[in-house]
Parts: sequence; structure tokens; C-alpha cells
Amino acid sequence: MTPERFQKIMRVLGKRQPTLSVLMDEVNKPHNFSAILRTCDAVGVMTAHAVPPKSGELPTFGSRAFEATSGSAHKWVKVQPQTDAVSAVRELQAQGVQVLATHLSQRSVDYRESDYTRPTCVLLGAEKWGVSDAAAEAADGNIIIPMFGMVQSLNVSVAAATILFEAQRQRLAAGMYDMPQLASDDLARVAFEWAYP
Ligand code: SAM
Repeated sequence: MTPERFQKIMRVLGKRQPTLSVLMDEVNKPHNFSAILRTCDAVGVMTAHAVPPKSGELPTFGSRAFEATSGSAHKWVKVQPQTDAVSAVRELQAQGVQVLATHLSQRSVDYRESDYTRPTCVLLGAEKWGVSDAAAEAADGNIIIPMFGMVQSLNVSVAAATILFEAQRQRLAAGMYDMPQLASDDLARVAFEWAYP
């Protein structure tokens, strides 16, 4: 471990946003899963909750598509497996986190209207089915990226990036990247884990 590498780790951890997360509900394509992790790393998201697809397990780090797209982000973003989306939503809410489901419904609002400086988890749906109605109803809000084309939806990793960079924009404006958001003992613990994996 060079001093420069350690300094980089400390610099990155100083900008991590422990109060911003994603919940992937059965996102099953390895390249989408890993592209979302890569965006999480760029924005400072520490934890990506993930419900495995019904057909199998979470996309694995062993697959070529996963590693080619991830750019090593899986080392810096914790994947937290969850059994199902509704109970994950309720668990996050019990911790004071607002869950915003990316879902078209009567109560959907433009994603830019939400306040991402609050503790927030963005719920993303499966490529084929989207977010389930039950999970969308359990969420605190439903958000949508307005679209004016012929195609009805974006690729899930593109939608994740669009919303997470809006969260980054709001948090930058609020000064949330100017001082560490991680408690100092957590910062020290994660720095050690990253330095000596
Ligand atoms: N047929 C699915 C449906 O009706 O929801 C399409 C799912 S879309 C390909 C996969 C995921 O990308 C969605 O569940 C959502 O998380 C995200 N997504 C795609 N387009 C979006 C948009 N315009 N606004 C918000 N999220 C979007």
C-alpha cells in the first residue's frame, strides 16, 4: 500500500454518502447490475441492496460481462442481498430512509422534484417487469424520468445513473460532499478493509 493509494482511499471515503442507496429488485443482467454499481461508486453510494432474480442468484462477479462493465466498482460498493422488495422497503423505512420507486403510477412525479438530501433509497425494477405494484405502493414516493420518444422505458442502468446524478447534484449544492458523511470510526474501519482486502 503506497501513501498515495492510502490518500486516495481517504479522499474517496471522505465523499461517500452513507445516506444514499439503491435497491435493485431482480435486476438480472450482469452488465446492467455492474453498470449500476459503477455509477454508485462514482456518486458515493456505499450500499446497493439487491433482491436476486426468481430464476437464480444475483449476477456474479465471476462473469465476464459483469467484470467488463463493473470496472472494479464491486470492490467499493457493498452488495447487500435482500429476500424480497417489499420487506426491504419496510426495513429501510424503519431506519428513517425514504424509498423512491422508479415506477409509473397515479402518484408518480418527475424525479427532479424529490429531495435527495434526505436519507434516500432509489428502488429500481427488473429489466422485463419493472418494479412490482406492491413494492411501488410500499415506497414513500414514485418517480419517473419523463420520456418523449417511441420507446416506453430506459435501460435500468441509464435510469439509475440519471437519478443518482440528480441526487449528487442536490447533495453537492447542499455541501454534503464537502465534509465526511461517514462517522469517523466507520471511515477508519472501511479504510482498513479497502487498504487490506
Ligand atoms: N416493462 C417494464 C415496466 O413496465 O416497468 C420496463 C422496465 S425498465 C426496462 C427497467 C427499469 O428501469 C424500471 O423498473 C425502472 O427502474 C427503470 N426505468 C426505465 N425507464 C424509466 C423512466 N423513464 N423513469 C424511471 N425509471 C425508469
